[in-house]
Amino acid sequence: MNVPFIAGNWKMNGLRADGLGLARDLADWLETVRPGVQMLICPPATLLSDIAALAASGPLLVGAQDCHHRASGAHTGDLSAAMLADAGASHVILGHSERRSQGEDSALVAAKAAAARLSELRPLICIGETLMEREAGLAGTIVARQLHDSLPPGLDADSIIIAYEPIWAIGTGRHADAGTIAAMHALIKAELATLLPGGGDVRVLYGGSVTAANAAGILHLPGVDGVLVGGASLKPADFKAIALAGL
Ligand code: PGA
Repeated sequence: MNVPFIAGNWKMNGLRADGLGLARDLADWLETVRPGVQMLICPPATLLSDIAALAASGPLLVGAQDCHHRASGAHTGDLSAAMLADAGASHVILGHSERRSQGEDSALVAAKAAAARLSELRPLICIGETLMEREAGLAGTIVARQLHDSLPPGLDADSIIIAYEPIWAIGTGRHADAGTIAAMHALIKAELATLLPGGGDVRVLYGGSVTAANAAGILHLPGVDGVLVGGASLKPADFKAIALAGL
């Protein structure tokens, strides 16, 4: 069985002083406490290389929040997977709903995932339905299709992570209930098993309003291999409590 995977998505938050302080505190805590979980933080790209450097000798993993699907060229303002790996990232979040809502589709996510693998970054691919899709009874169909279309061919099961993040639960304070999470994770795992060799072993994280108060209940559900945390990952005491809740 996988140890719980606790990932933090800082989104567009973190200037140097605060961001480096937060990362250093977490890296030190992880090194001292060794809570028996894997922890990843995804700071803004401006802080990646400094945070990767301070985490380099310890267990804290550092990732990026997106990458371009091309290796290089005329893409003003974008960052390639190779640049992010060069800055010290080991993982990259792809297809977050905040990016999908700006026009990023699953085919582009798949192209980005392929680019990430070429630079040996591990993609953490986000999928999830809107409230309207859920209320229309379409959550399973939508999520299965997103999953299918967001995975490039030739992926290794142990090189990717999936995050099920219902859009209506992100940043709303309203996490999905236990039955919904367990059902969606079972569906995603069954789908993964048909999509790639060993796919049933791919880690599937839950994301959407995870807090110190609800993390234990979520992390102990069947099919939940970890959590992807937004807001609470910026609060050191909460993020550590979430990590400890996975045990
Ligand atoms: P949240 O964000 O924990 O603030 O809901 C989760 C995410 O966007 O990954």
